[in-house]
Amino acid sequence: MDAEQLRENAHKMVDFIADYYKNIENFPVLSQVQPGYLSKLLPDSAPNQPESLQEVLNDVQSKILPGVTHWQSPDYFAYFPSNSSIAGFLGEMLSAGINMVGFSWITSPAATELEMIVLDWLAKLLKLPDDFLSTGQGGGVIQGTASEAVLVVLLAARDKVLRRVGKDAIGKLVVYGSDQTHSALQKACQIGGIHPENCRFLKTDASSEYALSPESLNEAISHDIAIGLIPFFLSATVGTTSSTAVDPLLVLGKITKSNGMWFHVDAAYAGSACICPEYRHYIDGIEEADSFNMNAHKWFLTNFDCSALWVKDRNALIQSLSTNPEFLKNKASEANMVVDYKDWQIPLGRRFRSLKLWMVLRLYGLENLQSYIRNHIELAKHFEELVSQDPRFQVVAPRKFSLVCFCLLPPHNNEDCANKLNHDLLDAVNSTGKLFISHTVLSGKYTLRFAVGAPLTEERHVNAAWKVLQGEASALLQSL
Ligand code: PLP
Repeated sequence: MDAEQLRENAHKMVDFIADYYKNIENFPVLSQVQPGYLSKLLPDSAPNQPESLQEVLNDVQSKILPGVTHWQSPDYFAYFPSNSSIAGFLGEMLSAGINMVGFSWITSPAATELEMIVLDWLAKLLKLPDDFLSTGQGGGVIQGTASEAVLVVLLAARDKVLRRVGKDAIGKLVVYGSDQTHSALQKACQIGGIHPENCRFLKTDASSEYALSPESLNEAISHDIAIGLIPFFLSATVGTTSSTAVDPLLVLGKITKSNGMWFHVDAAYAGSACICPEYRHYIDGIEEADSFNMNAHKWFLTNFDCSALWVKDRNALIQSLSTNPEFLKNKASEANMVVDYKDWQIPLGRRFRSLKLWMVLRLYGLENLQSYIRNHIELAKHFEELVSQDPRFQVVAPRKFSLVCFCLLPPHNNEDCANKLNHDLLDAVNSTGKLFISHTVLSGKYTLRFAVGAPLTEERHVNAAWKVLQGEASALLQSL
């Protein structure tokens, strides 16, 4: 690594990226390439001799960027956002520059200690109970994704209950969520050896605004106990993926507690909003939870990946995930004086991800972060109003945060063609390249999702997106 070469090349790269952001609105938001496009454009083996950075950047411009879907485009309204920011980018850069591997405290004390401090800071912004802070028996850890977060806590919970009831009972363990719970829970169950028939995704409907009903949880638990099974884990969601439904944490938490279960709360997307006092009530009842997760890389200006997980009992994680091979032994770990994050996660190696979250918290500050969230929620409200004013459309689920679920109504109330109509509208809109939205199915209804949350989105982008939606809807309705 030649420092001067790095300086020169990195400046070029930053220029390239800055130009990318300057021109980002000119790209089709959803990549329009066909499968296999890239192998036709690139050679089938690596070069023998070095090429110049400029040659590579030329290829990025002409061959890679057409195959990129531009998540940072202000016209991106699909899935949930995946934010980047100058602070997040600088933190990523610094992390790449230092490039340490912080699995144990000794491998870079600052990496472990900064992560503990920054997650304590964020826990305080979210007003999480003190039990989640590193100063007690709990603490925070940065996982790559919400999927890894739910997996590690499910493993901790599984092993905790098996220590009580005996390893042979694994086939009797039951996990609960709702039919709106992210598929990450199902994957965690698959990896965690939970019998597929013992995963309960309890039904929700429009009458409960797609939230998990405590009655149905109680009923399912009672039934499972009666047939000799062992309920041990509930994952509740604050801000479900389909429609941002919020499960009632307090009541659900009390049910899990009275049944000796682990209570996990997945607030992957909506957790960020809870730094605003007016949205904090959505996690009321969090004191009942054993673990809580939010993705700073979704809606908190922190570049991917950065999924913040807090647990009340760090030893439960460590008991499940710790190994202690000779080649990693060191004085600090042996003396039990430090946190070794390798024992809180699946992989051994880990990046210095706390740097970017620290940068975000310091370079923006709480007030700017709150304004950022509020602005997106205002833009989503604005979009919701636009939809409501056009009688051809309908808002189909209550908007709580920055996601609007809506659909185009079929002519003459012909419900038979409603799903196809909305499917076709989604395709038509996304094919324009002018915006990108995604879909879900709610109560059997094909539903369009408009998720505001890209950092560059302004009211003009929302208005322009709505115009495209209206125009494509008119064309479709005329063609029927
Ligand atoms: N949980 C919820 C509520 C989500 O919305 C998502 C993704 O959108 C996930 C979990 C999975 O996130 P990840 O990609 O970080 O695993």
